[in-house]
Amino acid sequence: MRRTLISLIWLTAISLQAEPLKVASLHPLIADLARQIGGEQIIVVEVMKPGGDIHHFEPAPKDIASMRGARLVLASGKELETYLPKLRDSLGAGVQVLEVGEKIPSIPSTCHHDEDEKNGEHHHHGADPHWWHSTENMKRAARILADAFSAAAPANEAAYASGAKAAIKRLGELKSWAQKEISVIPRGDRKLVTAHAAFGYFCKEYGFEPISVLGIGRGDDSSSKHIAQTIQVIRENKIKAVFPEDQANPKVLTEIVRGTSVKTGQTLIADGTAKEAHTFETMFAHNVRAIVEALKQP
Ligand SMILES: [Zn+2]
Repeated sequence: MRRTLISLIWLTAISLQAEPLKVASLHPLIADLARQIGGEQIIVVEVMKPGGDIHHFEPAPKDIASMRGARLVLASGKELETYLPKLRDSLGAGVQVLEVGEKIPSIPSTCHHDEDEKNGEHHHHGADPHWWHSTENMKRAARILADAFSAAAPANEAAYASGAKAAIKRLGELKSWAQKEISVIPRGDRKLVTAHAAFGYFCKEYGFEPISVLGIGRGDDSSSKHIAQTIQVIRENKIKAVFPEDQANPKVLTEIVRGTSVKTGQTLIADGTAKEAHTFETMFAHNVRAIVEALKQP
């Protein structure tokens, strides 16, 4: 009898010790956060890899095949992945596609240009999809992921909760660090001129006014009228520096620099997919340092 009881307890313990949860990620920043939260209790398949372009990515049949066995597919949401309905169809009902950004408060997209995409510009309408430029949003994402992982693998709940707690603590430290760094930039100089309108959430969290070069004016980017308009905006706002981006560095930016006395800052990472910086921490620290370096008091 005693023996049966012991083996019963033992068997229960075994079944409670769940296997690591397999998930697939459609954004490198989300993959990194998932690993921080899940630790050894998660297997992350990176479908959308560092170096890719989140605005133009679409999973190929081999990518769909790599998602086999994943219980959850993690997407950015906010209509960034326009292929999700198609992906849901091909994955079937057994796989949950979680749009991590869905419950994160949106800010409207400030980009209203409607040029073609041949120069690598993006089309953003409605909500700005770049929610990952905010430590508060990343904390929200950490909670959303921990909840979803726990629902899919309840036996690992404690591990996911402590992983999320540690990630949230680290994000808080990063926010304090950024606030301290940014405090050396005079308030009047906190205007962030970038190529595409990707830094709205960052600007909101750290008190910058976002100005996107591709978001100013309509029609042909390279037209002299557009360039003249942009130069005027830069003069009126007494802009000190403009920032190229890792995946959007339009010719117009070079022409603007030539036409004004602004300096060119270091390249910013807009979409979290840069090969050299595709975790939140590396992307955010790089961007904060680049912005402070260009805009601090001389
Ligand atoms: Zn973008």
